[in-house]
Amino acid sequence: MAHYAMLIDAARCTGCAACRVACQLQWQLPPEVFFNRLEFREHGQYPDVRQEIVPVQCMHCDNPPCATVCPTKATYKRADGLVLIDHDKCIGCKYCVVACPYDVRQVNDRGIPEKCRFCAGFIEKGEQPPCASTCMNDVRVFGDLDDPNSAISKKMKTVQVYQLAAEKGTKPRVFYVKRGG
Ligand code: SF4
Ligand code: SF4
Repeated sequence: MAHYAMLIDAARCTGCAACRVACQLQWQLPPEVFFNRLEFREHGQYPDVRQEIVPVQCMHCDNPPCATVCPTKATYKRADGLVLIDHDKCIGCKYCVVACPYDVRQVNDRGIPEKCRFCAGFIEKGEQPPCASTCMNDVRVFGDLDDPNSAISKKMKTVQVYQLAAEKGTKPRVFYVKRGG
C-alpha cells in the first residue's frame, strides 16, 4: 500500500503562484477559491530583514482534527494517507473548517468545505500533480514514502525536514526542507 506525502522546498519558491493557478485549473475553481496559498513571512528587523515564501495547503494529517470533529464521517483518512471529503455525507456544519489549524479549508457555493486532494491519480499514472509539475523551480515533490525508490523518498534522505505546527500533534504528511539560519 502506498503512503503518500509531499516535500516542499520553500526556499526555492519565487512566489509566482503558478502552482495555485494550476490547481485552480485542475479543479475548475473560481478565482477566489484556491486549495494552496503562499504565505509571505518576514523575519528580522530593519535593515536586517529577510522574506520567506511558504506554500501552504492541506497537510493530509495522519492525526487530522478535521476528521475527528466531523459528525457524519464525511471527512475521512484513507489508508494511503489522503484526507478526503465525501460530499454526499457532508451536512455543511463546517466544524472541520474551524478545527483545521492550517486554515486550508474553503467553503464552496453549496456550503460544502473543499481543500487539496493530493491528486494521487497523477502519481498512479507516473506523473506529478499539477501544483508540482507546473512549478519552474521544483519546489514540490509528491509521492509514495513507502517506496524507497520514489523521488520523494530519495530526496527525504538528503535533507533535514520540519512540519508546520507539528506541536499540535496533527502529524502532517507535508514536509518542508529545513535550511540553516
Ligand atoms: S509554482 Fe513554484 S515557485 Fe511558483 S509560487 Fe508555486 S511553489 Fe512557488
Ligand atoms: S491540514 Fe487541515 S484539512 Fe488538512 S488534514 Fe490537516 S486538519 Fe484536515
